[in-house]
Amino acid sequence: MTNSNDFHIAVFPGDGIGPEVIAPTLRLLDQAAERVGGFALSTSDCAAGALHYRDHGTALPKESLDVAAKADAILLAAMGMPSIRMPDGRELTPQIDLRMEYGLYAGVRPVKPVPGVKPVLADPRAHDVDYVIVRESTEGLFAPSAPGERDGDAEARETMVITRPICEKLFDFAFQLAQKRDGLRRVTSVDKANVFQAFAFWREIFDERAGRFGDIAADCAYVDAFAMTMAQKPWTIDVAVTENMFGDILSDLGAALMGGMGYAPSADIGDEHAVFQPCHGSAPDIAGKGLANPTAMILSSAMMLEWLGERHGASDPMRAGALIRRAVEAAFAGGDLVTCELGGDAGTARVFEAVGDALAGVSLEMLND
Ligand code: ATP
Repeated sequence: MTNSNDFHIAVFPGDGIGPEVIAPTLRLLDQAAERVGGFALSTSDCAAGALHYRDHGTALPKESLDVAAKADAILLAAMGMPSIRMPDGRELTPQIDLRMEYGLYAGVRPVKPVPGVKPVLADPRAHDVDYVIVRESTEGLFAPSAPGERDGDAEARETMVITRPICEKLFDFAFQLAQKRDGLRRVTSVDKANVFQAFAFWREIFDERAGRFGDIAADCAYVDAFAMTMAQKPWTIDVAVTENMFGDILSDLGAALMGGMGYAPSADIGDEHAVFQPCHGSAPDIAGKGLANPTAMILSSAMMLEWLGERHGASDPMRAGALIRRAVEAAFAGGDLVTCELGGDAGTARVFEAVGDALAGVSLEMLND
């Protein structure tokens, strides 16, 4: 950061639809910063991804990591390509490597349908759904400290790692989030403590940390039952905290319940760094066709502004984040903007145009509400 009102953003366009959704998002960010005033954003493009691996032999080059390490925030679109794999058959996942590199333990996955987008659930209460899945993002079944093993054609194993230091920080993060939200003031541990000792340990620590937040209710649910709750009565959820793999799966369910991957934003937050990226991947099936729904990318950029504002005690970036949210809501409000993802005819460019127009029209006074 050069001065207290200038923020430097490391931008990872990545693969597939990534570059298609991130370039116009950067223009919206500039538009929002200009309208609100009081701060400025500068950006550096960082090379990374499956295509970079194919062409240069590395998916996350050191130069990009160096830029990201110094930036105030990291904005990432999508990485990975099923057609480009490592010798052991796995896909390249530099977005996961970034979480490990910077200790981004709290994956924040809001599930809040955009008003005006046809709700997937028929119950009228589905309009009021507004909860957050906090996905632990550095260990669990993805822990690099316990790489899987394969014994030829006979057997393959993975290990789930749950550690006290990460759990304590994660649970505190979840309870503090519930304190900040205008929600039901409850944190739910989503686990499988009836079967796995790692989750019994997880629950022990959850109960300990819950005791420190007397103003927030705490309860626990088994992951299978919780998946049903997400589909049957999601309006009863406030903040749900869960292990990495469970969070990976449940947040895609959450995205589907919002209308699709293109509506689901996210943030991966650590003590010093944070990455903001849509929940979706590089979607190679629609890349290059102008069909991608950029809403998740746009809303992730709003989360970035809000995080920067909160972290630096600066109200202007927070107002710009709110402005982008309002613009998204205004663009979809009439119900006429139906994305290709939902069978409509609004491709990437149409959605950006609608959000950009709305952004120019939203009253700045409304942001104080
Ligand atoms: P990853 O594991 O890297 O998150 P994934 O395997 O979950 O990726 P995605 O790339 O997210 O896969 O794609 C899943 C499906 O969702 C695909 O059919 C894709 O076209 C669709 N999809 C993903 N993102 C969008 C988007 N922004 N707009 C429209 N459809 C999308």
